[in-house]
Amino acid sequence: MNWPRFSDYSLRTQMALVFAGLVVGVSVVLSLVFGELLKRRIEQDVGAALKVVAENAAQLLATGLLERSREAEVLAAAEVVWKQGLDSPEAHHMLVRSQAMQPHSAWIGVADAQGVVRTATGGLLEGSNVASRPWFREGLQGTYVGDVHPAVLLERLLAPLPSGEGHRFVDFAAPVRLGPTTVGVVAIHGSWEWTREVMESMTPPRTDSRAVELFVFDRQGQLIYAPGGRTRALQEAGQRLPVEARPPAEAGAPRPSVAQWQDGRQYLTATAALKPRSRASDLGWRVVAREPVELAFAEARHTVRKALALGLAAALLASGLAWVVARRLSEDLYALADAASAIESGKPGGHIPQARSSREVRTLATALDRMTNRLLAAREAMEEKVRLRTLELESANRALDLQARTDALTGLLNRRGFEPQMAFALALARRTRRPLSVVAVDVDHFKRVNDTYGHEAGDEVLRQLARALELRLRHSDVVARLGGEEFVLLLPDTGLDGARTIAQAVLTAMAEREDPVVGRITVSAGVATMHGADDTGMDMLRRSDAALYEAKRQGRNRVCTEA
Ligand code: GH3
Ligand code: MG
Ligand code: MG
Repeated sequence: MNWPRFSDYSLRTQMALVFAGLVVGVSVVLSLVFGELLKRRIEQDVGAALKVVAENAAQLLATGLLERSREAEVLAAAEVVWKQGLDSPEAHHMLVRSQAMQPHSAWIGVADAQGVVRTATGGLLEGSNVASRPWFREGLQGTYVGDVHPAVLLERLLAPLPSGEGHRFVDFAAPVRLGPTTVGVVAIHGSWEWTREVMESMTPPRTDSRAVELFVFDRQGQLIYAPGGRTRALQEAGQRLPVEARPPAEAGAPRPSVAQWQDGRQYLTATAALKPRSRASDLGWRVVAREPVELAFAEARHTVRKALALGLAAALLASGLAWVVARRLSEDLYALADAASAIESGKPGGHIPQARSSREVRTLATALDRMTNRLLAAREAMEEKVRLRTLELESANRALDLQARTDALTGLLNRRGFEPQMAFALALARRTRRPLSVVAVDVDHFKRVNDTYGHEAGDEVLRQLARALELRLRHSDVVARLGGEEFVLLLPDTGLDGARTIAQAVLTAMAEREDPVVGRITVSAGVATMHGADDTGMDMLRRSDAALYEAKRQGRNRVCTEA
C-alpha cells in the first residue's frame, strides 16, 4: 500500500490529523496513568479492607485456640474431682458438662499415666491406648495445642460431617497432677468445624462486586482451611501459601498485593499471622483473605474505559474544530493562490484579495499585493521602454536604409537606390504601354579637373552637376549617381525624342555656366529608350552607355541616342 506523504494532505486535513492525534495521545496516556493510579489506590483500599478481615479472623482464631487450651488446663486442674479416680462418675460428668458447653469439642477424655483412656465423652475410646499420640506425650509435660490433623481413632466412631469432609481435629491437652505426681492427661479434640464457622462468620457477604474468601495455612504454608468444603481438593491440587507470609524484619505484616493462586487466576491477597496468645497455642497459622482482581479492579477498568471514550470524543471534537479553523485559513490561501495565478496569466483586473483569517495571512496578502503592484509597474515601465527602443531602432533602420540607398556626396540615389526605381518604372511602363527612357551622363575630362584643381574642387563640380540635373527634371523623374562622375536619368512617360531634348537641355545649361574656380565644365549624354515589354533595365543602361561612348567619341559635349 502506497501511503501519501503527510505534506501531500491539505492544510486542514493536516491540522485535523495533528489535533486528533494529540488529543487521542494525551487522553490515552492520561487515562492509562489515571487508571494505573486508580488501580493502585484500589489495591491499597481493597487490600486494607481484606487485611482487616484477615486480621479479625486471625484474632478470633487465636482467641479460640487460647480459650480451648485454657479449657483443657481448667479441666486438668480440677484436683478435687481427679482425686476420686480418673474414671469416677464425677470425672465423667465433668467432661460431659464441658462438652455440652462447647459443642465443637468432638471428644473430651482423660488418659492415665500409661496412656490408657479411662473416661471420655460418649464413652468413646475408653480403654484404648493412646500412649503414642502426640497430645498424650506432649500433654504429660505441659499444656499442649496440636496442629490440625485428620481423625485417626475416632473417624469411625463419630457421626459423619454435613460438609462431607473427614473429621479433623485440633488437639488441646494438659497434664493432670495430684500433688507433684502427674497421673494422666486431659485432652479435648476440637472439631475443625469450629474453624469453618469462625471463617464463615468473618467472611463479608458475597455480592456482585465483592467476593471475599478466607483461607488458613499452617506454619509450613500448607493449606488447612478453604471455604466451601474445598480444602481437600485444593490440598490435592497443591495449593500453598501464595505470597510470602512471613513478615519482613521491620516492615510488619506483608502488604496486600496481587498474587497468582494455584487456579491460575489473579487475586488481591492479604495475609494476617495469628498472634499467639500463649506459648502453647502458637501454631504459626496464617489467615489469608483474597478477592479476584477482575472484581476488585472492575471499577478502575470501567473508569479507564470511560476516560478513553471521553478522550476519543474529545479528539473527534478537536479535529472537527481544527478542520473548521483550518478551512478559514486554507480558503484564504486558496484565494491568494487563485488571484496570483490570475495575475500571472495576465487576466485583466486581477488583484490580490484582502485575507483576514489570521495575522500571518494578512501580512502575506499585503506583501503579495505590494509585490504584485511593484511587478506590474515594473512590467509596464519595461514595455514602455521596449516600445521607445523599438521606435528608435525602426527610425535608425530607416536612416540606415536611406543611407544605403543614397550617395553621400551628392544626396542623389546610388546604384542600390536606383535599381528598385528602375524596376518599378519598367513595370509601370510595360503595364501602361507608355514609353520610358534613360540618359547616361558623364563629365568630360573630369580627370583634368581633379588633376588641376584638386579632388575637393572635383567633388564640388559633381555636387553642382547633381543640383543642376535635379533642377531640370520633373518630380516623377529619377536622378542617380551610379559611380565616379557618371549619372543616370530615368525618365518615365518619355520617348527617345523627349529624352534627347531633356539631355540636350542639361548639356546646354552646363555648358553655359562658368565656374569661378574650374571654369567651364561640359558633359556628354547617351540616350536609350524601352523597346517593348521584354526590354530590361540592364539592356537599356548598356545601350545608353554605348550611346554615351559614341558622344565621347564624336568629341564630347553632345548627346547621342542609341543606334
Ligand atoms: P572623358 O570622360 O571625357 O573621356 O574623360 P575623363 O577624364 O572624364 O575620363 P575618365 O572617365 O577616365 O576619368 C574619370 C575621373 O573622374 C577619374 C577620377 O579621378 C575622377 N573621379 C571619379 N570619381 C570621382 C569623385 O567622386 N570625385 C572626384 N573629384 N573625382 C572623381
Ligand atoms: Mg567617366
Ligand atoms: Mg568623364
